[in-house]
Amino acid sequence: MSKHTEGMLRTDALQDKVLIVTGGGTGLGRSMSKYFLELGAKVVITSRKLEVLEQTARELESETGGKVLPLACDVREYEQIEEVISKTVGEWGRIDGLLNNAAGNFISPTERLSHRAFNTVLDIVLKGTTQFSLALGKHWIDQKQGGTMLNIVTTYAWTGSGYVVPSACAKAGVLALTRSLAVEWAKYKIRCNAIAPGPFPTEGAWSRLLPGELKDKFDPARRVPLGRVGEHQELANLAAYLMSDFSAYVNGEVVTIDGGEWIKGAGEFNNLERVTPQMWDIFEQMRGK
Ligand code: NAP
Repeated sequence: MSKHTEGMLRTDALQDKVLIVTGGGTGLGRSMSKYFLELGAKVVITSRKLEVLEQTARELESETGGKVLPLACDVREYEQIEEVISKTVGEWGRIDGLLNNAAGNFISPTERLSHRAFNTVLDIVLKGTTQFSLALGKHWIDQKQGGTMLNIVTTYAWTGSGYVVPSACAKAGVLALTRSLAVEWAKYKIRCNAIAPGPFPTEGAWSRLLPGELKDKFDPARRVPLGRVGEHQELANLAAYLMSDFSAYVNGEVVTIDGGEWIKGAGEFNNLERVTPQMWDIFEQMRGK
């Protein structure tokens, strides 16, 4: 039996760590937070909608028996980020890790976007991530305390992608931030890594990126060599490892978890999978053995 939907790490892997998860009230942020709690962490979940966060916090506490602090924070507002940091320290005394997961994205031909819509995505994804990293980095350096940052990007952070251009620009920036700070702040014992997920079903991503009939027309599972979308636990396992001390020597890395999706798009001859065995027989005969 495959173990890919099971928790991977020992149950004390994040014992007593205080972790902040942006966008922690929904989707992948919620799933990663849940696993962090199962591994002994205390988790602050933040986003704009306090009611959503409070509801998720109640559910996660009852599902895991862990401690969750829901705090409203728009990552575009630096003062709100500073407030999250000071409230977390006030509540739990310290912060050990930050998961920059909050994002905004939608599909559109780029020429149809207003500059405001373009900027909104840049502001949430790039500015939001840089601001949270800057504020917490300053705090850690001030406190002479190390910490772990983990940024959620996408595989088109390095390939680029049409129809999600603001997101592609922003995620590429986040990847540059990850690799830059990994080197510059290593001397402060601050590690910085990223995860590039392929398709993982969430209400948020699916409704904005695959609206209406697109879900059936462009079934993401069909693009993936492994023939399926990701399970949230698979991502949570990776995120928990990169947040934990077990990955203490991993720094400046971006780990792709996409079933081979992006590399399939990159390989010139990969679409030959559509050639049937009978056709291969014919090609072989034409070539001569
Ligand atoms: P999601 O549920 O929509 O998560 C996005 C979260 O960001 C929400 O909780 C949202 O909460 C929060 N957010 C948006 N704007 C914010 C702001 N200004 N300030 C603070 N929080 C804000 O979607 P998801 O699929 O779980 O995505 C999570 C992460 O995975 C994103 O970084 C996304 O790019 C990445 N990713 C997802 C996939 C996938 O297939 N699902 C693939 C590749 C990468 P509020 O609305 O309450 O603010």
